[in-house]
Amino acid sequence: MNVPVRTRIAPAPSGSIHVGNARTALYNWLFARQNEGSFVLRVEDTDAKRASEEAYRGVLDDLTWLGLDWDEGPGVDGDFGPYRQSERTNRYQAAALGLVDRGHAYRCYCTREELEQRRAAAHAERRPGYDGHCRALSDEETRSFEADGRASVVRFKVPADRTISFEDVVRGTITTQSAQIPDFVIQRSDGSPMYMLATSVDDVLMNITHIIRGDDLISATPRQLLLRNAMDVFDVPVFAHLPLLVDERGRPLSKRWGDVSVRVYRDGGFVAEAMVNYLALLGWSYDDRTNVFSIDDLVDKFSLERVGRNPAAFDIAKLEWLNLHYIKGMSIENLAERLVPFCTRAGLDADSRAGREILRSVAPLLVERLRRLDEAPPMVRFLFEDPEPDEKAAAALGGRGEYLAEAAASLAGLEKWTTPAVEEALRALAAERGLKPKQAFQPIRAAVTGTLVSPPLFESLEILGREKTLTRLRAAA
Ligand code: GLU
Ligand code: ZN
Repeated sequence: MNVPVRTRIAPAPSGSIHVGNARTALYNWLFARQNEGSFVLRVEDTDAKRASEEAYRGVLDDLTWLGLDWDEGPGVDGDFGPYRQSERTNRYQAAALGLVDRGHAYRCYCTREELEQRRAAAHAERRPGYDGHCRALSDEETRSFEADGRASVVRFKVPADRTISFEDVVRGTITTQSAQIPDFVIQRSDGSPMYMLATSVDDVLMNITHIIRGDDLISATPRQLLLRNAMDVFDVPVFAHLPLLVDERGRPLSKRWGDVSVRVYRDGGFVAEAMVNYLALLGWSYDDRTNVFSIDDLVDKFSLERVGRNPAAFDIAKLEWLNLHYIKGMSIENLAERLVPFCTRAGLDADSRAGREILRSVAPLLVERLRRLDEAPPMVRFLFEDPEPDEKAAAALGGRGEYLAEAAASLAGLEKWTTPAVEEALRALAAERGLKPKQAFQPIRAAVTGTLVSPPLFESLEILGREKTLTRLRAAA
């Protein structure tokens, strides 16, 4: 009988998802979709210091933006909820208690100073980690610590002389000796669970069948397998540990909030289609040649077997190339709509009927040009408000008053206000004055748009309209 595939993404609420976690989410999502399984979103918010409601929303927002919808998780009821770890504390406490009762874990009363002192002494003998001091406290000792009101954590009793082995889809067989693993804390003194416990409990209770995650967590896997065994769970999920993400110089992409969060790319004008395509290629390849994959292609073609082991280098030029590709392929309506938030943020009245109309009229001029959506606002500002010439525009205007007045006069006489008619009139004037195109058109562009980087001039004037064009030319003259 086939067990239904269940994958999960388990982000901490960090305001915006790190690109590495976004890639992990994507691979889990693709694998679940491909196998008609379930993709579970579980928020690992047990660290109360970092978990704000806003940070939590931010992560959900990013996943939604990427199009990675979850079958179970916050906002989507399932049989295994709740899906925020902060709401599952009783389960972790029960698990910790059960482990203590059955002799798989114990209370440790050591203070930080005691631990440090003993660690310094043990260092000479090269025994890393906790020394097992509280493993065999007598009842009397325990009672006296409790009577003193000493705080205690719960530690897992790592079994001696165990060989822990698992098959990783990406990395092959991984073998660890339990002697390498010190007794680790599973519950803090305030009763909250450590990551190792919460994750193991939830992966079991939520019937997760495939654990696909970054290979920074590969050393957690043997511990989690020991915990599963101690909880009497002997079936093992499939593991796939994804290669590290590195920058162009091979350094690990920092987990610091901000510089490598999905939000930075989203706000920077990258479109979700490009981001998803790009993330898919960070560690996976189809045939070493094909670079463009829609999300449907990916559901079709993705496979864990083709995930590489080598660190995947983040390559912003490739992301920009993909972004340009997806913007070029957009319908005018779609592009115009996506520009609304960027223009609004730039202070333009774009989120209105009139604003949307302007964006739809100018989008055909932008669709072949934009590498990123955030390049649009300065190019379209002149359609929303009277321009304030920037420095370069002001320089282009210097001493050209008479010429601009002539341009206005010639355009005023046009029968039809169309791009070809505007172009013909302005070219005729340039020829008459013996001006090269740049000399002729820069001042007009500067007068009408306030910048030298607007979309193509004649089309821009057509969209702006006769009245505003003439007013601005005369004002500049
Ligand atoms: N919360 C962990 C992280 O964001 C992921 C835990 C896991 O996948 O096991 O790195
Ligand atoms: Zn201890």
